[in-house]
Amino acid sequence: MKAPAKSSGSSSPAVSTPAPSAAADPGRKPGEGEGFDFFSLLAEHEHEQVSAYYDPSTGYRGIIAIHSTVLGPALGGTRFWNYQSDRDALIDALRLARGMTYKAAVAGLNLGGGKGVIIGDNRTTRREALFRAHGRHVESLKGRYITAEDVGTSTADMEYIKAETNHVTGLIGRSGDPSPVTAFGVYRGIKACVRYRSGSDSLSGKAVALQGCGSVGYHLAKLLHAEGASITCTDIDPQRVKRVVEDSAAKAVAPDAIYDVRATIFAPCALGAVINDDTIQRLQVEIVAGAANNQLAEDRHGDLLEQRGITYAPDYVINGGGLINVNAELHGWAPERARSKAGEIYDTLLRVFEIAREEGCPSYRAADRLAEQRIAAIAKVRRNFV
Ligand code: NAD
Repeated sequence: MKAPAKSSGSSSPAVSTPAPSAAADPGRKPGEGEGFDFFSLLAEHEHEQVSAYYDPSTGYRGIIAIHSTVLGPALGGTRFWNYQSDRDALIDALRLARGMTYKAAVAGLNLGGGKGVIIGDNRTTRREALFRAHGRHVESLKGRYITAEDVGTSTADMEYIKAETNHVTGLIGRSGDPSPVTAFGVYRGIKACVRYRSGSDSLSGKAVALQGCGSVGYHLAKLLHAEGASITCTDIDPQRVKRVVEDSAAKAVAPDAIYDVRATIFAPCALGAVINDDTIQRLQVEIVAGAANNQLAEDRHGDLLEQRGITYAPDYVINGGGLINVNAELHGWAPERARSKAGEIYDTLLRVFEIAREEGCPSYRAADRLAEQRIAAIAKVRRNFV
């Protein structure tokens, strides 16, 4: 998918760099001959724009990556992290922004993909000025980018951002904890996977191995239990395991033992990269479907799951409920509407499996195709000046 280049929406002091069009200088590829691979990175990650902003008074160093605005304003959280280098920070922003484009596209939302990163120690107590500097950075993009919470940031930080810009979501007292909506989307996604495998989507009597009894895992367990599924769960936090054991009649196992549990579904709801060379050999399940981001350690693990006959629900499709919840806040949707939209993950996944079958590709690739098809179709519709 190639996002069209856009003109910069930024103003000083942000240095905002729209990706060059291939036609601008046909003699030179992006980044070539410069000794610095900035535009190669943008080209590789197919980005529209990257904005960098430095505020000497606070030491704020922030990057905002806008991958695509074809479907709407680029939305994605702000990550606050002590990156080893500026290059690492840029690559993280580019990678995460691209992921947001795909997540919004398959969720059927009118949002593009973007991501903010702030470079520094996220334990700092001097937050107000720092996040207001970030808010000014966001504001300089005039709505092309909308921010939210991510690793290292909190709802309180979003309030500081709000003092400088309206292009922020996840504020105190608004859409609130997205986990119940995410869990409902994952539950519906699991049902779609079961239907795809067996023709019926009933979870009664099905065994689920649940990794992670946190915010999403807890709510997911309740939904599964209510439908008659039996749950084996784990977490590194015994208190969280206890809640799921008590409220959803689950059986507990040690964290590493979860990969060896014989079940219909493995539901990763804790960490990324849990589908890897080690765990793939051990899984005794028919389906991998859970909330965690970046479940595949590498793309090839999606191919390996396929070869083992395990149905994989692409993570960014099945865990789209969180983003749907944010979208609900932006558009003032009632909670029922957000939940109903998350329920559509069921149909989206069935469509992904259909594409995979038609094109003979693994499901994670089919999900990308579905996202790219929608973006390409809408880009065509919006071609004319109106
Ligand atoms: P959370 O922090 O509330 O829960 C994660 C749980 O995983 C914690 O209880 C933690 O103790 C546990 N855990 C950590 N390492 C573990 C290990 N090695 N083995 C077993 N358990 C371990 O997070 P959450 O909000 O429930 O999100 C769960 C996952 O889903 C994360 O990967 C998150 O990025 C993703 N996700 C969440 C949402 C949402 O709405 N909360 C939306 C989309 C994606």
